[in-house]
Amino acid sequence: MTMLPFSVTILGSSSALPTLTRFPTAQVVNLNEKLYLIDCGEGTQIQLRKFGIKAGKINLIFISHLHGDHIFGLPGLISTMALGGKKGELHIYSHSDLKMMMDQLMKFMNDFDDFKVVYHPLNFHTRAIIYEDSKITIDSFPLKHRIPCCGFLFREKPHELHLRGDVINYLNIPIRDRVAIKGGADYCTPDGKIIPNQELTFPSDPVRSYAFCTDTVFRKQIIPIIDNIDLLYHEATFAGELSDLALKTYHSTSKQAAQLAVEARVKKLIIGHFSSRYKSVTTLVDEARGVFPNTFPANDGDRFDL
Ligand SMILES: [Zn+2]
Ligand SMILES: [Zn+2]
Repeated sequence: MTMLPFSVTILGSSSALPTLTRFPTAQVVNLNEKLYLIDCGEGTQIQLRKFGIKAGKINLIFISHLHGDHIFGLPGLISTMALGGKKGELHIYSHSDLKMMMDQLMKFMNDFDDFKVVYHPLNFHTRAIIYEDSKITIDSFPLKHRIPCCGFLFREKPHELHLRGDVINYLNIPIRDRVAIKGGADYCTPDGKIIPNQELTFPSDPVRSYAFCTDTVFRKQIIPIIDNIDLLYHEATFAGELSDLALKTYHSTSKQAAQLAVEARVKKLIIGHFSSRYKSVTTLVDEARGVFPNTFPANDGDRFDL
């Protein structure tokens, strides 16, 4: 069996000020064609259109914090969804104040008879499981920024074991017993002999994981949460020479992002949320690669497959 598609598409990689090539923060996680939007900076709906992702397919949105560069795209996106005839529920996970802001704005927008926005407040004090379905678990965890801010961890659910076709056929195991075997059960033959699961299966596919960490200072407390994950997106607003400014504004340098990747033993790092002062981010990437070689810059439209 092949692994399900699991990817992250960058819609915006700039920090507070958008530029002609970088929109503010937003990205889409796609696991088996189910879409999870993280943050919604201004112009997110344009980027979705540009990169061929259908806005109407998004039913879950995760908002790290309420700074404008992470939320100003929401009214436009929601309005477009309504005009597009979206039905059912749109779930938004965010600080509880977002509902108050959006309720005011939505009074002036189109009617939403077929379509309801459901708000879920995040916990900014401790790690929490905020969403779960048959394929994925999503945790939020506190970051350290000027206002309450959360990171998000996307973890695939454990996969089923692979059946050993030769053994299954030889023993003529009925279809109804195969489901339990894929889940780890032993098999009892009609004459009462127990065949251990290890003889019936090959190991399952590895479980993949992705974490999103922006905006934040370098924060050691998140290391155990993101330990050993496949892909980490961490903000790198500034180059090393502006480390004082990073600290003062509760942001990180690219070197700090790389340091975190090393200490958390992640497999691959994407840096983004670049200050608009950098026309080229080569210096930031080089500084990060000096610490953690498997670093890549986020560019709008980039897709990273897990
Ligand atoms: Zn920001
Ligand atoms: Zn911020």
